[in-house]
Amino acid sequence: MEYGVQIVSLAVIVSILVCYFQSSRMPLMSTKLFSLFVCTAFINILAEFFALYTLTHMNKTGMGLSRFAHQLFIGSLDCLIFFLFLYVDIKTRTQERYSKVQYIKRVLPVTVSMIMVLFGNIQYHVDSDGIYSYGPMAMTVYISVICYTIGIVRCLAKKNNNFSGKSKISIYCGVLVWAGTAIFQFFNPEKLLSSLAVALMAQFVYISLENPREYFEHELRNTKNRHAFELMLAETTERGVPFYVVSVAVTDTGALKEVFGYKSIVMILQKVSEYMERLTGTGTFRSGENAISVIIEGKEGYTKFLNNSPVCIEYKDDEGAVIDFSYFVSILEGKKYVASAEETAGIVNFVNSEGSRYAKDGMLYVNEEIIRQKDYMLAVEQLVHKAVNEDGFEVYYQPIYSTENKNFVSAEALVRLKDTQTLGYISPEIFVPVAERSGMIGELGNIVFDKVCRFVAANKLWEYGIEYIEVNISGIQGVDENLPATLAACMRKYGVKPSFINLEITETAAVEEGKRLEKNMTKLRTMGCRFSMDDFGTGYSNFSKVADTKFELIKLDKSLLWPCFGNDNANAMVILNTCIDMIKRLGISIVAEGVENIEQAELLMSKGVDYLQGYYYSKPVPGEQYIEFVKAAH
Ligand code: C2E
Ligand code: CA
Ligand code: CA
Repeated sequence: MEYGVQIVSLAVIVSILVCYFQSSRMPLMSTKLFSLFVCTAFINILAEFFALYTLTHMNKTGMGLSRFAHQLFIGSLDCLIFFLFLYVDIKTRTQERYSKVQYIKRVLPVTVSMIMVLFGNIQYHVDSDGIYSYGPMAMTVYISVICYTIGIVRCLAKKNNNFSGKSKISIYCGVLVWAGTAIFQFFNPEKLLSSLAVALMAQFVYISLENPREYFEHELRNTKNRHAFELMLAETTERGVPFYVVSVAVTDTGALKEVFGYKSIVMILQKVSEYMERLTGTGTFRSGENAISVIIEGKEGYTKFLNNSPVCIEYKDDEGAVIDFSYFVSILEGKKYVASAEETAGIVNFVNSEGSRYAKDGMLYVNEEIIRQKDYMLAVEQLVHKAVNEDGFEVYYQPIYSTENKNFVSAEALVRLKDTQTLGYISPEIFVPVAERSGMIGELGNIVFDKVCRFVAANKLWEYGIEYIEVNISGIQGVDENLPATLAACMRKYGVKPSFINLEITETAAVEEGKRLEKNMTKLRTMGCRFSMDDFGTGYSNFSKVADTKFELIKLDKSLLWPCFGNDNANAMVILNTCIDMIKRLGISIVAEGVENIEQAELLMSKGVDYLQGYYYSKPVPGEQYIEFVKAAH
């Protein structure tokens, strides 16, 4: 069939056009260039039909029409490759606008060849193989196409460009098809194949890079994903217009997940996304697990947003009951504090996950203080990272007093960062959550556990009358499938009996993590390890959980004890008494934390609390000091 190749190419391009223009697209420069590219490709293929027709029906159509058909065909080919080059160039660029020289270099080939298309000569060759056109017009376009193809390859070969390996391979494949066709065409000038190469290239780019679905959230309707958010941020920053990033972050997602399931978070975010889109008239992005953001250009849209706050979003469950959830709105003025889009994205991340601490009345205006906090947290993260790799942690031990034995029978192992120079002393209350968020808690936990086992074995702690050591296990560690095996291997390595280890798990983790944690606990308990529920009284105080999950010990948080010694302490006393009474009736032993003076110690002893821990007895101390302490006491 004469037009076989063109028909196939046309079918491919039309299918891409239909899929592409049906879904909503991102208002990005690169997306616009891709749209131009596919539209020009469509025109090019039609023009190829036209040119082919005039060649084979020259006597009917005449020279004039044939020249026009060729101008259209060659000109559109020239333009489409120019657009494709610009597309790849923009996608792989990190710096801002083009300089004059860069600009001239980029448009020179297309300008020269378009002049040739308009005014250049075209010749026709007729022989037994067929008819084809050649001459200066076709030649200059050939050169222009080669220039831009080299340009594309150079962009792809640049280091640190934004393309993933997969997308790069796709475009390289397109270029290869392109080159193969050109060579074939060179030796078989009577066969027109360029449309096929163009269609295949469009297909490769569409599938790997420009499929609009790549930019959309899978879980949420009409909401773009984090990748799209970063691209949009980069482009808005580059354009230099004033803009604001307004985000709504849902807080307490842990509790929501536990009570209503993960689905509830998705449903809430969907509501938030719809609300924000209605209010601002711009597309919304899921900028974090728990947050939806919009990028508002100009002060106007932003003022409109503020005038309509406070946001009123309601979420109803399947039965129509209104579910209360808490959130805060953050507003970040683009370019005010940081220049790059990357840093802006970093601040949005920080604000989404930790901003609730700084929000007032549900609003947070990002200011220098927040940026400083973010930088500090980043520095802490780097320090923890370094400590994980360079043995930068130390374990301190805080003695625990047994009221029955009237002596010290155990200790809690507490991690410390050795480096107190770089950022000063950092409390584990700050760096442990940082390690949890940045995925380093598993390693940190293993390091601590290893140090504890080594310390126990090297000093034969049992010889000093010590019965067990308490080790803190983060909620994240607690649900790690490998936890039992890892801990078992470590205890075996040092010859520490599992019964010498008591693992502390916070009340919050015990309630939130549910089944997976319980599975790990069962395995570890079978080995001989025992468990303490840490920080009792600070979380949900889910009493049925306390009874269900078998903890050998419960550690009363200092917030239950301390108010008993303040003014107006009657209620606090009732709560403390009730808790102690309940736990004892359940047959679980009690450790009271934060015992700072003799009055507190005597009160707790009179209530029959089994163990006491606090500054009154000793602060957490390094291993050697702990040994001295215990030696002196026994
Ligand atoms: P926690 O598990 O509740 O540990 C008890 C904290 O209370 C320790 O703080 C301890 O130094 C402090 N403390 C003990 N007695 C008193 C007292 O009488 N008065 C006052 N004001 N404080 C007292 P530290 O060592 O700063 O640890 C803070 C938190 O960091 C711990 O709270 C625990 O949640 C976490 N943490 C510490 N070490 C580790 C660890 O190795 N792994 C994990 N996952 N978390 C750890
Ligand atoms: Ca603890
Ligand atoms: Ca505690």
